[in-house]
Amino acid sequence: MAAFAPAAARSADVPSSAADTRVRAVTPAGNFRYAYLPPRSPDLEPVHARMESLDLLRRLPELHWLDGLLVLPGPVTYIAAECGEADAFYDPRRANVVLCYEMLTVLYRQGGERAEVLGITGVDAVEAAEDYVWANLRFIASHETGHALIDLLDLPVTGRQEDAVDQFATSLMQHIGEEGESRRQAVDNLRMAAHWFLTRVEEQADDEGGFSLDAYADTHSLGLQRYFNLQCLLYGSDPQRFAAIVESGDLPVSRARYCPGEARRAQEAWVRLLLPHFSPARPELRQEAEEWLRRRAGERSTRRSGFIRD
Ligand SMILES: [Zn+2]
Repeated sequence: MAAFAPAAARSADVPSSAADTRVRAVTPAGNFRYAYLPPRSPDLEPVHARMESLDLLRRLPELHWLDGLLVLPGPVTYIAAECGEADAFYDPRRANVVLCYEMLTVLYRQGGERAEVLGITGVDAVEAAEDYVWANLRFIASHETGHALIDLLDLPVTGRQEDAVDQFATSLMQHIGEEGESRRQAVDNLRMAAHWFLTRVEEQADDEGGFSLDAYADTHSLGLQRYFNLQCLLYGSDPQRFAAIVESGDLPVSRARYCPGEARRAQEAWVRLLLPHFSPARPELRQEAEEWLRRRAGERSTRRSGFIRD
């Protein structure tokens, strides 16, 4: 979900041992590699030390689930690094996903501020901040992985790629929620990720309270649009269960009525695009996905209503 980085971040000193990992041979199970580069700035050392000692990237459940699921033309390397600004990006030249220590620092700060706003104090506040960082790191790593898959598998994309990979990240986190984690926790995580979009709104504003031309021209939708898109996918995945999202005003009714259709199309599109690349080593997952698509097709054939799109 983070913006693509300009030159400063792209020129981050990624050592060749970590960077020259893109090979063209078919790689079997275990496509993902992880690296934590020491930062030059002493201010970022605590974040580096924390991430490395916990091997935080390897623990991300979305990456753990995806790793080995697909046959990729080569490995993807997830690199935690100093970038010169708070960002995360996918570098197609080396098939690297770079997650910047500066971004983690901003997330820790936002997590602390959010805990304060919610009136959480003491040890609970530290834990709430950690939860916020974790939820957002999961979303961001999933978003960048979406970019990596589009590049490495040459997946077709119509519409904005940034929106497509937000849909990928949202669907993936929901799926992981259904796999083991409580669904309540999965929802909380997604709503914390949505909160991050709201923090972007101020950055994109101009002096008159509107948006800057750069914000309109950006490859990403506006922060508020990404916020509502994510709420829409969440609500649309189960409108009865998530009725509170609309009742609380987090999603206007005028948009909500389209969301079941939007969520269904986004999820199906990603499964259909990825299915041809499922690893033969995981036949049970292919079967599960095929059955899921068949069920969806059955539901589609019995459903006739829909909304006029203008
Ligand atoms: Zn992106």
